[in-house]
Amino acid sequence: MSIETMMKEFQAIAYNPNKQLADFKAQGKKVIGVLPYYAPEELVYAAGMVPMGMWGSNNKTISRAKEYCATFYCTIAQLALEMLLDGTMDQLDGVITPTICDTLRPMSQNFRVAIGDKIPTIFLAHPQNRFASWGLQFCIDQYTNVRKMLDQISGHEMTDEDIRNAIKVYNASRAARREFVKLANDHCDVVTPTLRSAVLKASYFMLKDEYTAKLVALNEELKKLPVCDWKGVKVVTSGIIVDNPKLLAIFEENNIAIAADDVAHESRSFRVDAAEDGDPMMALAKQFADVDYEVLLYDPKSSENRRGEFVANMVKESGAQGLILFMQQFCDPEEMEYPYLKKALDAEGIPHIKLGVDQQMRDFGQASTAIQAFADVL
Ligand code: SF4
Repeated sequence: MSIETMMKEFQAIAYNPNKQLADFKAQGKKVIGVLPYYAPEELVYAAGMVPMGMWGSNNKTISRAKEYCATFYCTIAQLALEMLLDGTMDQLDGVITPTICDTLRPMSQNFRVAIGDKIPTIFLAHPQNRFASWGLQFCIDQYTNVRKMLDQISGHEMTDEDIRNAIKVYNASRAARREFVKLANDHCDVVTPTLRSAVLKASYFMLKDEYTAKLVALNEELKKLPVCDWKGVKVVTSGIIVDNPKLLAIFEENNIAIAADDVAHESRSFRVDAAEDGDPMMALAKQFADVDYEVLLYDPKSSENRRGEFVANMVKESGAQGLILFMQQFCDPEEMEYPYLKKALDAEGIPHIKLGVDQQMRDFGQASTAIQAFADVL
């Protein structure tokens, strides 16, 4: 199978999550919706069920969710609720609602009220202080609650060994995605921004072992190609989610390749692995504690601007000439972080632009002009 065909297969899955959901249900599988961020998906897999990512939608219009949300809620959260209200997610057997930001915390209760008894909701509060022993214990307690609720939904108790196996499957998947991101940079003539995004996005709608097998095969084929001599511009993307094909098409129209990303939906979600031995619940809690350089999580050393410097280094090391930040409207954590990121980029002389986006965007004229001008400057 050609590299293009392989990537088109991922693209078909990424663009049709409804079909994936229907197919899983037709196979008699139970499916759990997983909202952002950092839910221990390994537990869903260990329970023998399918985790299905719910990061809003580029194709829907917010309508019924307005009854539950203030207008300043980001569109990702509103559209996730919309999909639960309009029947798109009726086939789900449960939903995990993490509460990392100030939008998701109240939103978790909106989800619960809006969908009522139709779909069980599993509330998840991660610890703010995740490093100390009591922070780890709090995380284990929360994950144990998730585990128990998943057991109820699946109808049987998962064992520690099931979780260890799931961790191995997920570590392999994360490693394959990290490798793909590097290969996408080396072969950016073949792995266009649109295809890069689709390959990574498909991971949210597939069982991870099946996804990894396909991705490893793609990676092997990419490795056989000579490293491309890219004549265009390379950038690092940053933000919560950068998956809109119309937005990514603008990159291609302007010969802009993505060298690396600091995107929550992409690399930020698969940077850290969990230990494959010992107590698996502690391994998952420690994995969460080990997440670093993350806008959404507490950093006791934030005054040192470690994250800004980390991202600036990423730009330099990946060979990018600049950074494009996609700022989700009404996303407080990203907006508050921006001055620090700007400071670090400016200190290194790295050009960047900040574009306001949301999932209701239908007109990309302004973004197109800004990206084109940025490419010209670079
Ligand atoms: S986009 Fe921002 S505000 Fe919305 S759920 Fe994500 S972190 Fe929270």
